Amino acid sequence: MAKEELECSFCGRKKAETNLLIAGLDAHICDRCIEQAHGIVVEEALHSTNTELTKEMMLKKPKAIKEFLDDYIIGQEHTKKVMSVAVYNHYKRLLQPKSDDDIEIQKSNIIIVGETGTGKTLMAKTISRMLNVPLAIVDATVLTEAGYVGEDVESILTRLLQAADYNVEKAQNGIVFIDEIDKIARKSDNPSITRDVSGEGVQQALLKLLEGTFVNVPPKGGRKHPDQKFIEVNTENILFIAGGAFDGIERHIAKRLNMQAVGFSASKSEDSLERDNILRYIIPKDLKDYGLIPEIIGRLPVLAYMNPLDKGTLRAILTEPKNAIIKQYKKLFAMDDIDFVITEEALDFIVTQAIEYKLGARGLRSLCEAVLTDAMYELPGTEDRKLHVTQEYAAEKLNKSTIKKLKAVS
Ligand code: ADP
Repeated sequence: MAKEELECSFCGRKKAETNLLIAGLDAHICDRCIEQAHGIVVEEALHSTNTELTKEMMLKKPKAIKEFLDDYIIGQEHTKKVMSVAVYNHYKRLLQPKSDDDIEIQKSNIIIVGETGTGKTLMAKTISRMLNVPLAIVDATVLTEAGYVGEDVESILTRLLQAADYNVEKAQNGIVFIDEIDKIARKSDNPSITRDVSGEGVQQALLKLLEGTFVNVPPKGGRKHPDQKFIEVNTENILFIAGGAFDGIERHIAKRLNMQAVGFSASKSEDSLERDNILRYIIPKDLKDYGLIPEIIGRLPVLAYMNPLDKGTLRAILTEPKNAIIKQYKKLFAMDDIDFVITEEALDFIVTQAIEYKLGARGLRSLCEAVLTDAMYELPGTEDRKLHVTQEYAAEKLNKSTIKKLKAVS
C-alpha cells in the first residue's frame, strides 16, 4: 500500500485528514480515536476506583480502623474509638442501598475539641491515609461570607479538588478538615467583645456544605467571577471533620456541671490535668454556649475531645508511631551508612525542654532538628559511621539561644 493511502482502522479517516496516525501490527489509529478511547478508559477507571474505594472501606471494621490509628497516634483512646465508629458509619452510609423504609442514615461529620498540637490534624490525615481518599486541610479563620475580603467557603472544595487531582468523583468521597472552627464562633455572650456578625455569617455559609449540596466550585480558587468555568461538586458524601481549641470552654462545662473550674491559676501540669478532666464531660450545649450556632452543631453530630499531651505521651511520640520522628532520623542517617543511636536520657531531655518551653508535640521536631543539624551536615562523606547522641551532646547543641529561636517560630 502506498503511504498516502493509509487510513485509521477505527474511523476510516485518511492519513491526510489526521494530525497523527500510529501504526500497529495490522492496523492504524488516528489521534482523534486515541483521544476518544482514552476518554473511555478514564471513565471506566473512575467507576472502578469508586467501587474499589467503597469496597476497600467496607473491609475495615471499627476495630481495624482503631488499630490503624494506633500505629500513628499515641493515646487519645476515647477519640480514636469515636472516630473509628464515625468513619465506619460514614462509609456504611455511602453504601446504603436505596430503600423505601424512610430510614435515611445521616452524615456523621465530626467535631474535635482540644488544645493546639494535640493531634487533631494528625487524626484527619491518618484517616485519609488509611482510606486512601483525598484530604483538604483548611483554616476557618480565612473564610468569610461572600462579599467580604477573604475566601468564600467554596474555596474549601477547591482545595479538595486540588488534593484529588481534579478527579471530581474522588473529591466527592474525600475528607475536609476545617481547623480553628472555634474562631468563627459568635462572641455575643462575651460582654467584652462586640457581637461579631461575620463569624455567624461564615457558620451559615458552611451549613449547606456540611449537610450535602451541589456547589459550583471555581477550580483555581479565588473569587467567583462571571466568566469563570465552574466544576460542580456534590458534598453529600464528603466527610467533614472540624477541629478547634475552644480556649476557655472549660468554664462553660464547669458552669453546667455546677462545679468550680479550679486549677486555672495553678501550675501548668495541674492546669492541664484539670482541663483534661473537664473536657471529657463536653456536650454539644457547651459548644452552643461558646458561640457555635445550633444548626452547625447539629451538622457535626459526632463530638470528640483530645487530651493535652503529658510527658509520657510526648516521649512516646518521639519513638513509637510508625513514622516517629526518631525513626525518620535513623532512616536518614542509614542512607549514609551512619548508625544513629540516641540514649534514653537524651530523649527524656528533649521532652523536658519541649515541656519547659511549652513547645508541645510540634516542638519535638524542631528540637531534634536543632540537636542533629550539625551531625547531618558534617558526617556524610566522612569516615564516621556512628552517631551517638547523649544527653550532654543534646544539651550542648540545644543551648538557650537555640531554644529561644525555636520558641519564636513555633
Ligand atoms: P492539632 O491539629 O491538634 O493542632 P497536629 O495534629 O497538627 O495538632 O499535631 C502536631 C504534630 O504533633 C503532629 O504532626 C504529630 O507529629 C504530633 N502529635 C500530636 N499529637 C500526637 C499524638 N497523639 N500521637 C502522635 N503524634 C502526635
